[in-house]
Amino acid sequence: MKIHPTSDVQSKKIGANTTVWQFSIVLPGAAIGDNCNINSHCFIENNVSLGNNVTIKCGVYLWDGIYIEDNVFIGPNVTFTNDVYPRSKHEVEFAKTVVKCGASIGANATIIAGITVGEYALIGAGSVVTKNIPNNTLWIGNPARQKAYVCNCGQKLDEDLHCKKCNSVFTLVDNIIIKQ
Ligand SMILES: [Zn+2]
Repeated sequence: MKIHPTSDVQSKKIGANTTVWQFSIVLPGAAIGDNCNINSHCFIENNVSLGNNVTIKCGVYLWDGIYIEDNVFIGPNVTFTNDVYPRSKHEVEFAKTVVKCGASIGANATIIAGITVGEYALIGAGSVVTKNIPNNTLWIGNPARQKAYVCNCGQKLDEDLHCKKCNSVFTLVDNIIIKQ
């Protein structure tokens, strides 16, 4: 574990081989797994968990109610929210937002509160995600729309749901994509 001296890490639940770079704040209730990379200028609130092998690029704020599973990539300046109808100082039960195993979110995308981003999904840079994202799908735009299916390796699948990069083959069963 490596915590840069300019960062304020108050949680004791920081896994082995995890690095927190400059000028980041981690509040005491947060739990961060093993082998994560938290870049500079990040803020991680209390009711937040990160799995193992997670990459958080610079300038990402993870508010209460945000759960990040293993092997997730969060690009620079991705914005999360945790209140769908915000008002100053009102009483609110924060929405639960989940980014599932292996998903990647491009730079400066916005994830609206309460969304689940499915396993190995890919969100294009600058997209605004307003609905739940199924596994292995690529979403782009504002509001984000599904543009393609993606392999676990990150490559777009061709029309036969085949990956040219790693040769994986997928099928659609009841509109849900499944790896063979
Ligand atoms: Zn592949």
